[in-house]
Amino acid sequence: MKVLNKDELRHSIEEYLKILYRKEVSEASRMQIYQALSYSIKDVIIDQWMSTHRAFEEKDVKTVYYLSMEFLLGRALGNNIISLKLDKVVNTVLEEIGIKLEDIEEEEPDPALGNGGLGRLAACFLDSLSTLGYAAVGCGIRYKYGMFKQVIENGFQIEVPDDWLKNGYPFEMKQDDLSVIVKFGGYVRITKDELGREKYIQENYSSVRAVPYDLPIVGYGNHIVNTLRIWDAEATNHFNLDSFDKGDYQKAVEDQNLARSICEVLYPNDSHYAGKELRLKQQYFFVSASIQRAVLKYMEKHEDIHKLPEKVVFQMNDTHPSVTVAELMRILLDDYNLSWEEAWEITTHSCAYTNHTIMSEALEKWPIDLFSKLLPRIYQLIEEINRRFLMNIKVQYNGDPNKIEKMAIIYNGHIRMANLAIVGSFSVNGVAELHTDILKKQQLRDFYEMTPDKFNNKTNGITQRRFLLHGNPLLSSFVTSRIGDKWITNLQHMKNLEEFAKDPKSQREFMEIKYQNKVRLAEYIKLHNGPEIDPNSIFDVQVKRLHEYKRQLLNIMHVMYLYEELKKNPNMDIVPRTFIFGAKASAGYHRAKAIIKLINSVGDVINNDKSINNKIKVVFIENYRVSNAEMIFAAADVSEQISTASKEASGTGNMKFMLNGALTLGTLDGANVEIAEEVGVENTFIFGLTADEVIHYELHGGYNPREIYDHDMGVQSIMKHMIEGYYDPINHDAFQDIYNSLLDSYQLDRADQYFILKDFRSYVEAQRKVQEAYKDKSWWAKTAILNVANCGKFSSDRTIEEYVKDIWKLEKVTL
Ligand SMILES: *Cc1c(COP(=O)(O)O)cnc(C)c1O
Repeated sequence: MKVLNKDELRHSIEEYLKILYRKEVSEASRMQIYQALSYSIKDVIIDQWMSTHRAFEEKDVKTVYYLSMEFLLGRALGNNIISLKLDKVVNTVLEEIGIKLEDIEEEEPDPALGNGGLGRLAACFLDSLSTLGYAAVGCGIRYKYGMFKQVIENGFQIEVPDDWLKNGYPFEMKQDDLSVIVKFGGYVRITKDELGREKYIQENYSSVRAVPYDLPIVGYGNHIVNTLRIWDAEATNHFNLDSFDKGDYQKAVEDQNLARSICEVLYPNDSHYAGKELRLKQQYFFVSASIQRAVLKYMEKHEDIHKLPEKVVFQMNDTHPSVTVAELMRILLDDYNLSWEEAWEITTHSCAYTNHTIMSEALEKWPIDLFSKLLPRIYQLIEEINRRFLMNIKVQYNGDPNKIEKMAIIYNGHIRMANLAIVGSFSVNGVAELHTDILKKQQLRDFYEMTPDKFNNKTNGITQRRFLLHGNPLLSSFVTSRIGDKWITNLQHMKNLEEFAKDPKSQREFMEIKYQNKVRLAEYIKLHNGPEIDPNSIFDVQVKRLHEYKRQLLNIMHVMYLYEELKKNPNMDIVPRTFIFGAKASAGYHRAKAIIKLINSVGDVINNDKSINNKIKVVFIENYRVSNAEMIFAAADVSEQISTASKEASGTGNMKFMLNGALTLGTLDGANVEIAEEVGVENTFIFGLTADEVIHYELHGGYNPREIYDHDMGVQSIMKHMIEGYYDPINHDAFQDIYNSLLDSYQLDRADQYFILKDFRSYVEAQRKVQEAYKDKSWWAKTAILNVANCGKFSSDRTIEEYVKDIWKLEKVTL
């Protein structure tokens, strides 16, 4: 069934309502119409999916396997409709039925199979790969519970499980016949085969069956549909009473439990490694399944395993999938009987690694005993990879113990996954120019000196299809009415908007659109436990994961400062401002959760203080995720990108704000540097220490925040109010730890590790400039339009073209 016109779509929706729910259109709930519409859309996709697959097979094109623990997809229905260019037809039919597409879209759960930026990047990359016509398979895990739903109670974050599959997910397809077995534990027995070669056989292991579920990734208007393959685990031996008699009852129960636990839940940590055994099981589970399938598929059409790198490339999104290197070696050695040299040659020409952070708490390292018990054969292989690599160091550096300390894969009782990924890959990339420079000069300096050609930069990007075309229809029409619609698939065309930046009519229209988007967000906030806010105020927005390095604390301390100034001087010259926050904190990250509580407590006091005449408001938007993010970016005037310089590898939120015409208030960190370069630093508000300065302080043991506290009465006052119950007479104990983190050194932490007090005055000054600039509406509108006009570089289409040219070497397919 292929939906083409409005009558066929209407008929299809009616049929699905009948088949699925025994309902007529007039009796159906929104949820049921969402399901019926989604199945109807899926029918159109299926045909394109199959023809794409056929074309890739016929042309025998090279495929990138993008391995990622996270894919933060956001809702599919609206985007699929846009990509298929069915929006007009769908809207007409829904109008007949008497319902709005936006309301139907609201019924779809966000498949939140990711934490934040890293997972969202993977989703943007898949969108671009399809739209650009490259063969790609996303490989991940079908978590039963994705990122938790955040509820704010009494100002505190409460985590609620996200049961995204409870009504079924219309766009997924289970592929039972493509399942594979993944083995854990046991031991390795060594025997000889008939040719006298050593064979390694894993015995007495536990196993699970990995079952793939495929989700379509629809290219924009080009009939290309790639696959996101997420794996679920099922028990291998279906439990029967037989096994009880055979004495392996215990084993059967264990396998059952293993299968149940592996895909149960996404760990809610962002840029933080917790060392949990289940997490390692998840990693090996999806990597082994994905690599086994990829090799099997290659061998269906090709004879010579040695030529695998001509047709297949594995891109590892951070170190989470870095067992790929050893798993591919295992398959080549144990299943295909290759020599070590042959297998290593193939592996190191198929694997590539993306580094996402320089922060030490994110570096994955597994204790040898845990790792070798869970993955005995993989551990043997890593030992051998390490042994041979250390021999190279011996030759090249005379066994320099410094080099061994920095670069060994196994060191101090641990396996260092980043080192495994680097040694096993032909490409290592950072995600913004500044980040890649820091990798080369600091964190990965020794590797860089040993193999400089491996290292390269790929500045992150975002898809304009979701974050402008879908998320901001008014601004999309504004742009298209002026420069045509080529920007949808080539964001560099935005440059043509520059000539309208100074045009008064365009400026007025732009500001009116921003106003409408602010009204839309204000309504959303009101509907979701938030206060009433004024769309005429400046919308100053910081939305991203809650992390100390991202410095939401700096932002809220500036709000406290403004409030206290305003209390002292009620006639102060101030442009009304709404400070908007949205952030989830990892469930075990207590200080981050205290910062959420502080933001909410400050908000409660300020929002209810009649004496300040609504001049400032503070909003914490509950449950920040892709679906409400789209609306938030569209409504933002100011984009807060205030991480401690050197800590944010790239950031992608910063790009989504720019695309929607918000002005960046930020440090020279990550991709902010490139944003300022593209739009001109005079069209941003840059403040604070530079990365070099931060690194310099760090190398010299930090700085002394007490000096600032003692001399800056503004800082001293807000710090005192924080712990004395000014913002929360009951729960202010929660803030003592925040206070201490700024002023007291602990054994492990330096005081004010993230330079909040150090950057405070510079931030206050930048905020003052924002306010002054906003008074000049024409300047603001011009600058906002210039931001949109110069965002071309930050499309994930550009990023993907660079990966293709420098790393993956894929061929473009047109249908
Ligand atoms: C883009 C995005 C992020 C990443 O934001 P940063 O500001 O780069 O940390 C996180 N979460 C969601 C829902 C996003 O859309």
